[in-house]
Amino acid sequence: MNIILMGLPGAGKGTQASKIIKKYSIPHISTGDMFRMAIKNGTELGKKAKSYMDAGELVPDEVTVGIVKERLSQSDAKEGFLLDGFPRTVEQAEALNKIMDELDSQIDRTINVEVAEEELMNRLTGRRICEVCGTAYHLVFNPPKQEGICDLDGGKLYQREDDNPETVANRLEVNVRQTAPLLEFYEKQDALVNIDGERDIDEVFEDVDEILQNI
Ligand code: AMP
Repeated sequence: MNIILMGLPGAGKGTQASKIIKKYSIPHISTGDMFRMAIKNGTELGKKAKSYMDAGELVPDEVTVGIVKERLSQSDAKEGFLLDGFPRTVEQAEALNKIMDELDSQIDRTINVEVAEEELMNRLTGRRICEVCGTAYHLVFNPPKQEGICDLDGGKLYQREDDNPETVANRLEVNVRQTAPLLEFYEKQDALVNIDGERDIDEVFEDVDEILQNI
């Protein structure tokens, strides 16, 4: 099962992705996570990506498509994968189709989690993440039991550099502009399913799960 999870930043893609990979045992391939890891490890890729990420801009396609192609060619992605944060542009979607052709495979579903923009602003600026396991919390909607500490492993919670209000506003604007043609692209391929993301995490997952069981 080859899945793309879409939605504006803060729509809950990461949360739904964790639930999907747990139930279906497929790798979670998040370009944002791959870039953050590369920056943390001080690699060449990290150096290339950092300035774009800090500004809330998209990392250039030649860099992004390259890392996705490499990752999808690895053996653990053969039985299926969940793409999160990629593709972000029609050019990337076309490049992905080409990669899938080369791998003699295809994208089965594109799941779009829909949440209104005002709601996203609230969600993103209150988001805090565990530096050890990456679990996401929210200061108001999903606070940890103890302030600043992960419930699961006691790791320290941090705010992503690109979750400050100015960068969030820019990220949303860039994403809204880029996403519309992308949704159209997958609609034309009959691969798009929209789900209402302004509900309880488990209710959203019920919809996602139903879609996945029908592939
Ligand atoms: P995310 O964690 O998906 O919100 O991504 C964080 C940042 O990583 C984005 O704001 C971009 O700078 C970069 N990024 C992630 N995925 C992509 C992509 N598919 N194309 C270009 N840049 C990306």
